[in-house]
Amino acid sequence: MTHSIQDVLQRIGIPGQPSAVGIGTTWQAGAGEVLTGKSPIDGETLVTLQEATLGDVGLVVDTAKNAFLKWRQVPAPQRGEFVRLIGEALREHKADLAAIVSWEAGKITQEALGEVQEMIDICDFAVGLSRQLYGYTIASERPGHRLMEQWHPLGPIGVISAFNFPVAVWAWNSMLAFVCGDSVIWKPSEKTPLCAIACQQIVNNVAQDFPEVPDGISNLLIGRAEIGKALTEHQEIPLISATGSIPMGRAVAKTVAGRLGRSLLELGGNNAMIVTESADLEMTVRSALFSAVGTCGQRCTTLRRLIVHETLADQLLDSLKNAYQRLPIGNPLSAGTLVGPLVDQAALDAMQDALRTAESQGGTVHYGNPILEDVPAGGCYVHPAIVEMHSQTEIVQQETFAPILYVMRYRTLEEAFEMHNQVPQGLSSAIMTNDIREAELFISPVGSDCGIANVNVGPSGAEIGGAFGGEKETGGGRESGSDSWKAYMRRTTNTINYSTELPLAQGIEFNL
Ligand code: NAD
Repeated sequence: MTHSIQDVLQRIGIPGQPSAVGIGTTWQAGAGEVLTGKSPIDGETLVTLQEATLGDVGLVVDTAKNAFLKWRQVPAPQRGEFVRLIGEALREHKADLAAIVSWEAGKITQEALGEVQEMIDICDFAVGLSRQLYGYTIASERPGHRLMEQWHPLGPIGVISAFNFPVAVWAWNSMLAFVCGDSVIWKPSEKTPLCAIACQQIVNNVAQDFPEVPDGISNLLIGRAEIGKALTEHQEIPLISATGSIPMGRAVAKTVAGRLGRSLLELGGNNAMIVTESADLEMTVRSALFSAVGTCGQRCTTLRRLIVHETLADQLLDSLKNAYQRLPIGNPLSAGTLVGPLVDQAALDAMQDALRTAESQGGTVHYGNPILEDVPAGGCYVHPAIVEMHSQTEIVQQETFAPILYVMRYRTLEEAFEMHNQVPQGLSSAIMTNDIREAELFISPVGSDCGIANVNVGPSGAEIGGAFGGEKETGGGRESGSDSWKAYMRRTTNTINYSTELPLAQGIEFNL
């Protein structure tokens, strides 16, 4: 571990050698396999620790359950105060946490800071929410009766997260869960253990000074898929919120459904932008560029398909190729870099495979080559690719988690919408247009079939205030803003009879 990482961990308060198991505020070394966390920037070893074992899962779930039984009785606004203090701690450690995100996920500093800002934003949102966990009052059909609903805490929530948003996804889930009266057990990506340890410690620091918070409200299990699988199988976890690839989501959904639990799935995307004849081309290039190459194409909302009106395609392609040519690619910690590394060699291999396949399916590939010079040795750096396709072949229908932008042409808007929706995933989408009819059609029932549909804004870079998630193979879950909090609570419907009679619903007579 380098000196600077040690300094950052020390500032956050992580005691000694980082451990894989956080049982409330107690750290415990795992007894599982050795996990070596390496930086995608240069392959340097950041941390070595022993993973959690299956035996740790039971212990952590018991602790989280006990904490939940107490936490659910703390008034929601007080739970909100706890989250407010977490937000303050995140503000204090924003730069430190962002540095860890860059080291472990390879994000450029601006995007890493943005990810921590999302955490702060969701804290603020959750604080307000803690006084707004409203249920409806419903008109009863019976005289002297009142019908109402309440939202109650649900239980310990299992959060499984992906490498590419190593801190924000946890915060989206945990801050809502905390104000909703739930405890959390987090199984982060095995590629980003230090991010998880830092978040757990920040919560511990706040919890230690907050007597109403039972120990065990926030828990951490670092390990590979089998630890996640054990969580999904556990009967005491009513909700599993899982973010990651579609195959992972399929496995989680099946297991959780098998025990009739709830799952909230945030899976892969294959996000498109339709560029119509009336689009502002300069704005299109800027928003397509950020969406396609930001985080080196490793966002779930990354722009992967550009569907362009045939009259604009050549001009847009020229502008994009020109912008791609000038992209500053390299060390994500250096000022001015816009594209950092891919997460690992497997991601680079998958990208090169996809480009070869696209070529074999009739595509023309621009750029996409690995970069070996003027970048840190030991990292997987690549020139983001643009691939012109005649149609949406098989490879275009898949999510390759790397910066490949497929460009297709269309003639009629109907054709563009059809192409747009003709993929198995349904996360995010955008239309670039200055025609109000085109814009409204795109976000209407006959337009985009995605969970997120934007106008003159790229598909990537959502705000926390809206519900985030997608349809079809993206899994159907919604997290973050709007009324996503309802997933973390259970609803009860209450009928109250304040009369002296006992009328039955539907007018049923039942007299002895
Ligand atoms: P991944 O599926 O390889 O891993 C995600 C997490 O699931 C990890 O913690 C992993 O250990 C765990 N896991 C894997 N198999 C499991 C199983 N059978 N049971 C339980 N847990 C299991 O994904 P990744 O490579 O880390 O992330 C990239 C993928 O995540 C992309 O497909 C991306 O689109 C998706 N993603 C989606 C969103 C979203 O909000 N929709 C956000 C971020 C990433």
